[in-house]
Amino acid sequence: MSFELDAAKEYNLRVQGKLWQHGELASPLNDERLAPGSDAFSFAVASFQAAVGLVVDGRLGPATLAALRAFKPYDVAGQGCSQDGVAGDIEEQPRGEARDPKPARTSVSNRLVIDGVEVPLSAALLAAGVTCSNWRDDGEAHFAARRRSEPLHHFVLHESVTTSVAATIRVLNAKRRRRGWDYGIHFNVGPDGHITQHNDPVLDRLVHANHLNDTSAGVEITNPYNPKFGGAPWINVIPGPWWCWRPKGASRVYTLPTNAQMRVLAPLCQILSIHCVDLPLSFPTRNLNRRKKRIQGWSDGALPPPGFVAHRDFAAHSDGRYLLEHVINLLDGGPPPAS
Ligand SMILES: [Zn+2]
Repeated sequence: MSFELDAAKEYNLRVQGKLWQHGELASPLNDERLAPGSDAFSFAVASFQAAVGLVVDGRLGPATLAALRAFKPYDVAGQGCSQDGVAGDIEEQPRGEARDPKPARTSVSNRLVIDGVEVPLSAALLAAGVTCSNWRDDGEAHFAARRRSEPLHHFVLHESVTTSVAATIRVLNAKRRRRGWDYGIHFNVGPDGHITQHNDPVLDRLVHANHLNDTSAGVEITNPYNPKFGGAPWINVIPGPWWCWRPKGASRVYTLPTNAQMRVLAPLCQILSIHCVDLPLSFPTRNLNRRKKRIQGWSDGALPPPGFVAHRDFAAHSDGRYLLEHVINLLDGGPPPAS
């Protein structure tokens, strides 16, 4: 999203107390972490403007204020992975939890369970603020799963289109009840960047990735994806890139994951590639772009070569590409080719 940030901040400080009082604003703009005059406040205003189709300038002036007062607070959560933008293909799901991240956990095992073996986070990762908890040591949710019958060749990056880990779990459990399939996910990353492990990526086969279920494990990054589906702490948006889905009635923008979430992605991928013997640290879909959007033969069930992929790269979904390109950028020598 491009707008004059400094001018927006200056404007918002100038009109605060005249046009509006911070504490009286509707959620998420009344959040105490969003001080008027801060970058975050102007970005939150811009996110709201983008969501409701106003001119995006980050300034909380009379028109934006009127729209904010008339706006029904965000209450659509728990959508599940974002679909392609065909009207009506999102199923109604239970509502999400509160949007605010829980504080980072202090008394967790900080161990992952991979192929039945406990893998402690390294001292360097702990020092960098990476934390994790798992179903075995920490009582996290666990999805009943079939034993995997094929080697783990893929790891799939998802975005939940929810605003909490609890909502994501609820969506998956509701799908299990409705369809009787083994829906589930091996890892979740909440808005505070904490990694929650639900299942063993090597041993447990779960339904999360269309025709890649037999050979893949996955992670859901908790992200509303579009401002229509969530506010703070997801307060930064960018114009929708080539893979971006536009929800009905919303702007074509993409809500960025939180910085805390982005920080843990590459370490998680690295750990998995080290401890999962059939999962190479490679990126078989890195060359996809707006001309070649998905892998060849995807709709006929083609599998990508082994490695880390975004859900949208091989299925009629729209999630995970931003995450994947970030990991490629950090771990595979630079960004994918320009689209
Ligand atoms: Zn997905």
